[in-house]
Amino acid sequence: MERTSSLAALEVDPDEPAPDLEGRDPADIVAWVAERHRVAFPTGFGVEGCALIDMIARRGLRVELMTLDTGLLFPETRALWRRLELCYGLPIRAVLPERTVEEQAIREGPSLWKRDPDRCCELRKVGPLRRALLGFDAWISGVRRDQTPDRARIAIVEADTRFGLIKVSPLAAWTRERVWDYVRAHDVPTNELYQRGYPSIGCWPCTTAALPGEDPRAGRWRGRAKTECGLHQLAGRR
Ligand code: SF4
Repeated sequence: MERTSSLAALEVDPDEPAPDLEGRDPADIVAWVAERHRVAFPTGFGVEGCALIDMIARRGLRVELMTLDTGLLFPETRALWRRLELCYGLPIRAVLPERTVEEQAIREGPSLWKRDPDRCCELRKVGPLRRALLGFDAWISGVRRDQTPDRARIAIVEADTRFGLIKVSPLAAWTRERVWDYVRAHDVPTNELYQRGYPSIGCWPCTTAALPGEDPRAGRWRGRAKTECGLHQLAGRR
């Protein structure tokens, strides 16, 4: 209810075309939303997230940075989290699930990610993000259209009817190479795991390295049909 009225207050109709920011520089797109709305950027510290943090810091944009601390992050991801905070002097808030991994194991059984990864993602990512986004008008996502067939339909700005917010994806039109060109040109810190064959990095139980020639996301939920944690599946006008 509250989320629906939030969209209405922003005069965003899920059935109407979003503002046309296609072709604009991603930093300009972030500035566009930050100047108009209370906006959060939940990042998993992928290379796209690191690039966006750099853009936000360089422009001094009012964006609340946060990360979903599932309790199952790689140590390298935690190290990058601290490095980014130090590098840019910006706090990146931890968004926590209601239960620790141990408490979840008692309630749901051990290693829920092996038996029901969708429920595990709901408990440790989607639900916590939904709660964390209360009070915001918009959220920023680092997704790109060339990552998956589903993501190919992402609009730069869309109404996220599930969270009741505006979802902005400034890098939607960028390729992986273009993001990497940006981080190299601006000396942005990135996850050490990229150099060890992990082109896409999530929770450690659900992430493996990718083999040469494999899709960059092949190591996520390997052996399962699952391709998304649920944060990006239902947003917008699809
Ligand atoms: Fe659980 Fe895996 Fe989802 Fe992380 S990515 S929340 S471990 S199912």
